[in-house]
Amino acid sequence: MKITIGKAADNDFVADHAEVSRHHACLVREDDGGYTLEDLGSTNGTFVNDVQIVRKRIAAGDRIRLGDSYEIKLKDLLNAANDYSEEFAALKPIYDNYIREKIRIQSSNQFKTRLFQALPFAIPGIIGVLIGFAGKGSATWFAVSLLITVCAPIIGIYFGAKQSAKIPEQLQELTNRFKIDYVCPKCGTFLGEIPWESLKRKKQCPMPTCRARWSAE
Ligand SMILES: [Zn+2]
Repeated sequence: MKITIGKAADNDFVADHAEVSRHHACLVREDDGGYTLEDLGSTNGTFVNDVQIVRKRIAAGDRIRLGDSYEIKLKDLLNAANDYSEEFAALKPIYDNYIREKIRIQSSNQFKTRLFQALPFAIPGIIGVLIGFAGKGSATWFAVSLLITVCAPIIGIYFGAKQSAKIPEQLQELTNRFKIDYVCPKCGTFLGEIPWESLKRKKQCPMPTCRARWSAE
């Protein structure tokens, strides 16, 4: 997690003060949970306990100052945290999985639908051959053979339709789950069907009231 500090509006912590540079400094949370303050080449410098620093680990109670007179409390900095890059990265497998599952449901159902429709057409062919051997010109066997041939496509269409009716149901279930999981980590708004890569390029939540930042590049 990273909190950027400066005069420019795109900082997490906007400090509108004459001695503060546009992109003055940043506070980084380390893997062990501690915080490091870093000066970003500011004009008037960054100070911790009145000593100018380039990069320094911050302890509770340390006094942070930008330039000669702009003091900031660590607590206020942490409240300005708006970096959701870690949480956003976790949305990638959710999106990828959704697309993969959607394609899988559609294609597997298509295959099953065709199979159900095609199978009964093939069966009477086989039965017809068998009846041809067994019945040898009998009128009854001919009628049975005819009945099977007529009924087979109807049965095929019935099962095919039944199978394809499952598609919306399964897709609905998948979409419902996606709507719960594919949301902005800050404001919880569903991010729609916007591909993860496109969202990454936007660098922040598309909701104007949120603007959670998830890409520093
Ligand atoms: Zn948001």
